[in-house]
Amino acid sequence: MTEVTFKQFRSAAAGAIADPRLQSAIDGATLKFRTERHHALTELPDVDAMRDQLKAIRAATLSRLADHLETFERQATATGAKVHWARDAAEANQIAIDIARQHGVELIVKTKSMATEETHLNHALIDAGITPVETDLGEWIIQLAGEPPSHIVGPALHKTRQQVAELFSKEVGRELDPDDIPGLTAEARRLLREKFLAAGLGITGANLAVAETGSIVLVTNEGNGRLVTSAPPVQIALVGIEKIAPTWDDAAVWLQLLARSSTGQPLSIYTTAITGPAKADDPDGPREVHIILMDNGRSNQIGTGYEEVLECIRCGACLNACPVYQEVGGHSYGNPYSGPIGAVLVPLLFGLKEYEALPHASSLCTACLDACPVRINLPRMLLDLRRDEVQGRMLSPVERFIEQAAAYVLGHYRLYRLLTGTARIFQRPLVRGRFLRVPRRVNPAGERDLPSLAKRSFHDLWDEIR
Ligand code: SF4
Repeated sequence: MTEVTFKQFRSAAAGAIADPRLQSAIDGATLKFRTERHHALTELPDVDAMRDQLKAIRAATLSRLADHLETFERQATATGAKVHWARDAAEANQIAIDIARQHGVELIVKTKSMATEETHLNHALIDAGITPVETDLGEWIIQLAGEPPSHIVGPALHKTRQQVAELFSKEVGRELDPDDIPGLTAEARRLLREKFLAAGLGITGANLAVAETGSIVLVTNEGNGRLVTSAPPVQIALVGIEKIAPTWDDAAVWLQLLARSSTGQPLSIYTTAITGPAKADDPDGPREVHIILMDNGRSNQIGTGYEEVLECIRCGACLNACPVYQEVGGHSYGNPYSGPIGAVLVPLLFGLKEYEALPHASSLCTACLDACPVRINLPRMLLDLRRDEVQGRMLSPVERFIEQAAAYVLGHYRLYRLLTGTARIFQRPLVRGRFLRVPRRVNPAGERDLPSLAKRSFHDLWDEIR
């Protein structure tokens, strides 16, 4: 999907809300993430100070991003890695395809990477005649299902074990028991091991890239990241340009909050730093390491009111906290980036006109701001994007007329009193308790009950009190 209109979002959201299996899968997963996060953060002596520190690190890094990127390139090149620059998704994909072709690669193993989801790298590789295989269990499940991820951290959290067993059974050609979870994971492990050994190239993203040593850092829980970066002879890492940590001290703060905020772990099971290709005396590791630094709309945000969105460390905590995401799930957002961060990032990177509905996919309750380890003010940016839509005349003529009329009435006190006074009289036959009984199809509040006007207005009460 390359656009998400109001109509598309509403229809996808309605489908998700009406699916009890999906609702229970999202509820269970997001509740678990939230509970574990809460416990992990309370273990820290002063979590607020650490969040402030991370915010300061990310803001300072972005203010000198070009310098840090140059340092990273210099240091990574000195280790023997090759650094490539990609202006957009198409360039990033082409660089990866060219490297694969130079080495005659037909099979690629991949780790979970939002950057490669963003560029739709798998589709580009398949079109080029190269087979990519996802090796993160969740990513592999959705690859088999032919679906995009529904969560930044748990791409397959919308799938039940019965659905997973069905997908795996098809793959192995025999019936697998959905209640035998160790059996299912053992099958996945067996099949994926064969791919690791046969692949000519490994592709990863990077949770962060450390400028002072030219290293990329991967955070995984299944060990597949280490196999992808050590079994195949060539490795590519696709990295968004904002993922730079100037020093290892900065990275240490970042990593402590990343795992705690996303999965509730003090540190992920595997935190892997890759600094250049294997040295002559290394027992294993890739002979070649390529790092693609991708812009894809990020640099356009620097120096604007939206620069803060680039501070995101992709922990997923805002998704788990968001009441809208919990109802509509990740696929309603029409992009791999979903939830509150997706509602801001996607229109900024891929077009506000194309993703007009996303800034409205929020109740502005600010739960995302409370949850974010970097204290990114997503509610402010959601409001700013709505303002941009109005100023850019992106709303439909009907909606524009209604908003202009409302603004006029609210700006003219006497008219406002006259209209609300008249409405109070005409609503009487429809009032049931605090709500109006109106047929669903003419209810401007949609699925919600339409509140009635109070018997006496605030202005009347205020006059009396005075
Ligand atoms: S916006 Fe904050 S909470 Fe959401 S994914 Fe990014 S860092 Fe995590």
